[in-house]
Amino acid sequence: MAKGVGKPRKKLPKELAVVRADNCTGCEACIEVCPVDCIYKVPGEDQPGLQSFVDIDLERCIGCSLCERWCPWDAIDMVDTVTIAEHVANKGGPPEYVAKNGERLVAVAKQLAELCAEQRAAAAAPKKPAPATQS
Ligand code: SF4
Ligand code: SF4
Repeated sequence: MAKGVGKPRKKLPKELAVVRADNCTGCEACIEVCPVDCIYKVPGEDQPGLQSFVDIDLERCIGCSLCERWCPWDAIDMVDTVTIAEHVANKGGPPEYVAKNGERLVAVAKQLAELCAEQRAAAAAPKKPAPATQS
């Protein structure tokens, strides 16, 4: 298992990457450029005649947007982290993969979105004044 997997991150990226399955050809250009190796080929979906597809481990994505810039088919969008769950729910993909993994992937995306919203609220909250010192 890659280092850091499953550990909470200090601060979530402002944006995360999402693959638009209908546009993805499975060319793997994004896999080559991702600095944290969080893009993976969807297993069992590369038989001849069947369109290939990749997906992203959002818990490890650092929001660098390299995959979006390198994708030749415009199949990756960077989206606001607090909206990631709805994008994951609508990204499509091979029916078998979606049936098997869709719910889990959306649940992970929801957790990340909620955590990001909490972090933003905490960052925007006024700082407590320092306790008065007696002279
Ligand atoms: S670079 Fe784009 S088309 Fe190629 S595998 Fe990645 S998302 Fe799919
Ligand atoms: S945004 Fe960066 S870290 Fe996230 S999947 Fe794309 S290349 Fe990887």
